[in-house]
Amino acid sequence: MTISDSYEQAAAELIRVGRRLWQQGFCPATSSNFSRRLDAGQCAITVSGRDKGLLQHTDIMRIDMNGLSLDGQTPSAETLLHTQLYRRDTSIGAVLHTHSVKAALVSMHVTGSVMIEGLELLKALKGIKTHQSTLEIPVFDNTQDIVALAQDVDRWMTQHGTGHAYLIKGHGLYSWGANISEALRHIEALEYLLDYYWHQNELRLNFLPTNTERRG
Ligand SMILES: [Zn+2]
Repeated sequence: MTISDSYEQAAAELIRVGRRLWQQGFCPATSSNFSRRLDAGQCAITVSGRDKGLLQHTDIMRIDMNGLSLDGQTPSAETLLHTQLYRRDTSIGAVLHTHSVKAALVSMHVTGSVMIEGLELLKALKGIKTHQSTLEIPVFDNTQDIVALAQDVDRWMTQHGTGHAYLIKGHGLYSWGANISEALRHIEALEYLLDYYWHQNELRLNFLPTNTERRG
């Protein structure tokens, strides 16, 4: 990604990514939001409340890195969660946020962080070279106070590093990458890993002996 990348290209990429994630059921109703850095001071982002499977050029807008509209349209209510990432790490070129069932389910049953290890698909995440790795995905409490949530996320990242992703309880998943392709690879891998994590725990519960069996 270079500073000369055009807004038109960014909009086309966000439209394409929206269609692909919507088709997989990760963006129900008008949920989710996607953005792509344009240069050091601005990014393209989805307009608030648009159907992510049917995005058009008019559903993409420009904001500055304080989350302020540069073209008069209204960005997603969660815009500051995107700009927090761009401001923290200049190597981040795209941010994707989904609202899948598995992200919501896992986040509601975990306190602290989700830890995933031993899976080949971990290697889809930047910098992970072997399945013998442990991925930590922090879980933050949901709130409508996005300023406070962005501060929580930023504080956590100062202590633990930026990482690859985070969950918001009962809400959804955020991931990012150097560009749209990498962010898409990350979010699809993470959705798979969360799906696996959920089913793995379901299996463990199902295979535990019942109280009656234990007594017998
Ligand atoms: Zn959301």
